[in-house]
Amino acid sequence: MKLRIWLLSLGITFACLFVFSFAATQVYYKSSIDDSKEYLRVYMNAYDGSFSLDEQGAKAFSEKLNGARVTFMNAQGNVLGDSMASDDLENHSDRSEIKDAIFNGEGFAMRGSSTLGKNMVYYCKNFDGNVLVRIAIFTDTDWSLFAKSLPILLYFFILVLVLCAVIAFVSTHFILTPVKKLAAEAAANPDVTSKYAELQPIADILNERNRNIQRQMDEIQAEKELVEKARVSKDEFISNVTHEMNTPLTSIHGYAELLRAGGMTESQKDTAYKTILAQSERLTNLIACIINYSELDSDELPPYPVDFSALARETISALKPEADKRKIEIIEKIDDNVTVMSRHERLSEIFGNLVRNAIKYNKEGGSVTATLNYRGLTVEDTGIGIAEENMSKVFSRFFTVDKSHGGKNGGFGLGLAVVKKICQKSGWKISVESKLGEGSKFTVEF
Ligand code: ADP
Repeated sequence: MKLRIWLLSLGITFACLFVFSFAATQVYYKSSIDDSKEYLRVYMNAYDGSFSLDEQGAKAFSEKLNGARVTFMNAQGNVLGDSMASDDLENHSDRSEIKDAIFNGEGFAMRGSSTLGKNMVYYCKNFDGNVLVRIAIFTDTDWSLFAKSLPILLYFFILVLVLCAVIAFVSTHFILTPVKKLAAEAAANPDVTSKYAELQPIADILNERNRNIQRQMDEIQAEKELVEKARVSKDEFISNVTHEMNTPLTSIHGYAELLRAGGMTESQKDTAYKTILAQSERLTNLIACIINYSELDSDELPPYPVDFSALARETISALKPEADKRKIEIIEKIDDNVTVMSRHERLSEIFGNLVRNAIKYNKEGGSVTATLNYRGLTVEDTGIGIAEENMSKVFSRFFTVDKSHGGKNGGFGLGLAVVKKICQKSGWKISVESKLGEGSKFTVEF
């Protein structure tokens, strides 16, 4: 940057210097011509008619005029004598200064001599129509004047070079120091301001950058947390599945060993067969439940309008024998034609799981009230209820309040997790209210 500023200021100054000296030369050139004309008039005043009108006379007069060229001509412009060109005696009446002298009494002219790189200023005067005297002196051409000024220009150029280097150093120091300071501050602070208004846009850009970086870092952090959560959740899931499988497998393995060892009574054998069958059935159920739960994640099947009222009534009829067995009354408060956008199997999972739980975790002689309308579904029971501390956990995978109870009834703690997942995917809200020993109420808001 320093070098750039230095080169730029140098370029500008040098160009200005060049243009200025050229213009000055022109002015000086014009005034030097005017001066020359003035000299020539003064020289001409020295002519007193005492010189012979030939080359000798011209040379004598020239000597008197410090070597200025003198030409004597007759009234027609024929050269009589010339202090410089002795054999050039032709007629000069075509030259403008001579023409002017013949007709107007006097004339000036200026002609360049490319060979000498100099101009000659001529002044011709008509003395009473008898003789024409012409005096000429050399002047510099504008270019030669300019060339003469070049050494001074060079001197100035060197001076400017040094001056520009100093200016570049000082200005870059003044510009760069606050910029460097600002950059250092921005590296340490998320929000910086500059006391220089010109640098505030840079401060704003740095602040915006900082904000973007912070946002990206937050996103990465959030993603990391999600990945970690997913990892923990997966580990937990695997550990739960293993744990759930372990009990029936141990039981099957144990009874199979006993049967192989022999020496069992018929009734013991019968118990062993029944247990092996029941436990392998439980394993099959568990695997089916896990597959069902896992498939929900990848279930992208499109929803369609389902007659929830009809589905709810059918499910209640199917569960009635189970309720009757425990003398539990099912109260239907189901509005007609409640149609929701979903899939038959998903609504069946929600309604079936909630009503089955309401029967399963009820007391003998209790009741289950299923209410369905366009706003949502509630399944209320007068059962054992859920303790305050377990209320938030009932929707978690593999959560069962009473492990032994779960085992006995084949519950794996996946029913409510499935219900919650379907509700989430459908954009519905599910909640539970419960009082231990008095009953529970599950609500799904469409
Ligand atoms: P499962 O019934 O197979 O154990 P769920 O996910 O359906 O699994 O239920 C999880 C746990 O929530 C149950 O083990 C039970 O302790 C509790 N629970 C569910 N529904 C009710 C209810 N209506 N009344 C009381 N407790 C309930």
